[in-house]
Amino acid sequence: MSDMTTDLTPPFTSRLQSSSSLRQEQHLTMLESLPDATVIMDSHGKIVFVNKQTEILFGYPRDEMLGELVEMLLPHRSRDSHVGQRNRFMVTPRVRPMGRGLDLYGMRKDGSEFPVEIQLGPMQTADGLLVLSSLRDISERKAAEAKIQRLNDELARSNVELDQFAAIAAHDLQEPLRVISSYTTLLQMRLDDKLDDKCREFMGTVIKGTKRMSDLIRAILDYSKVGHHGLKSEVVDSAAVARTAVENLESQIASVNGSVVIGGLPAIVADPVLIVQLLQNLVNNGIKFRSKDRAPAITIAARETEHEWVFSVADNGIGIRAEDTARIFALFQRVHAAAEYPGAGIGLATCTRIAERHGGRLWVESTVDVGTTFFFSFPKP
Ligand code: ADP
Repeated sequence: MSDMTTDLTPPFTSRLQSSSSLRQEQHLTMLESLPDATVIMDSHGKIVFVNKQTEILFGYPRDEMLGELVEMLLPHRSRDSHVGQRNRFMVTPRVRPMGRGLDLYGMRKDGSEFPVEIQLGPMQTADGLLVLSSLRDISERKAAEAKIQRLNDELARSNVELDQFAAIAAHDLQEPLRVISSYTTLLQMRLDDKLDDKCREFMGTVIKGTKRMSDLIRAILDYSKVGHHGLKSEVVDSAAVARTAVENLESQIASVNGSVVIGGLPAIVADPVLIVQLLQNLVNNGIKFRSKDRAPAITIAARETEHEWVFSVADNGIGIRAEDTARIFALFQRVHAAAEYPGAGIGLATCTRIAERHGGRLWVESTVDVGTTFFFSFPKP
């Protein structure tokens, strides 16, 4: 212990020596063996104690730090402002991290810099206020964070590229498909009386196939657009948006004697076009996956929680088995027979994207033969 006390500046040493209690020695031994660099300064910013880790971290021998201002451990550019910050800390000293939200740097004896995290703790002693700082080199953490950020940026960029690729491919596929579809329809009209039943059936299958492919391409276009188009942020009357979604589906709803009730819905900040698309997809599914035993009845509602609005679209349809509820949100996933319920399996993936782009999420609760409720949340502004 003796060599440690010789490293302390006079006031601190005398304080230690005068009381020289076992407890103080134990405290110093503890500080000495801390894994973080530990610096104690007095109320004037003078260093009165450093541990071994401080020597290792900053490259100064202990006696070159003791008695010096703590600013010697900072890069030159931040020294002046640090004096002010340190004086302010002395006025209202409390345990806290230093420079919250700022990138702090330490400077070694050789002038090299490194990012550092600093915790400050005041200690009232008989001789006045001392401040204990615990400093940690966070170069590795910063490098790891930068790497994650770089990877995330790359991922976001490649996702956008993928979406753009899908959009362009889908768009370009539409044109030849239109040609196939219109010429097959022409052929069918011209040849109708010359075709036997079998050929007529084949022709019908080709036309149905082109229609299905066209729906699929449109769905892929919608999905990719949600990914890479700029998100509008407007105050949206969600009741009006729900009415638009229902009006767009009017003929489908009427053809199956369906009904849609729109409850009290709030104003939210969102992209109105995407919210119409989201609601329209969910209402459309409510109509499509209806029970054979009853006319489809759908309710759109919303409830408020502390941080978000939770919208719900509830139907009285065929429901979804519990084991299938997770996968229906993935692309091209369908859990009901395609022959009975046509579709591309892209609608819910698009809805999930819309909710997530607004900072919300989409989930489902369902009971087979009773009905399904889709929920989506939006954070409140
Ligand atoms: P699509 O409707 O084109 O098949 P979606 O992505 O919208 O694709 O839905 C995926 C699957 O989830 C559907 O094929 C269906 O099996 C199931 N599903 C979606 N909505 C409902 C609903 N309201 N009731 C029952 N099943 C549903």
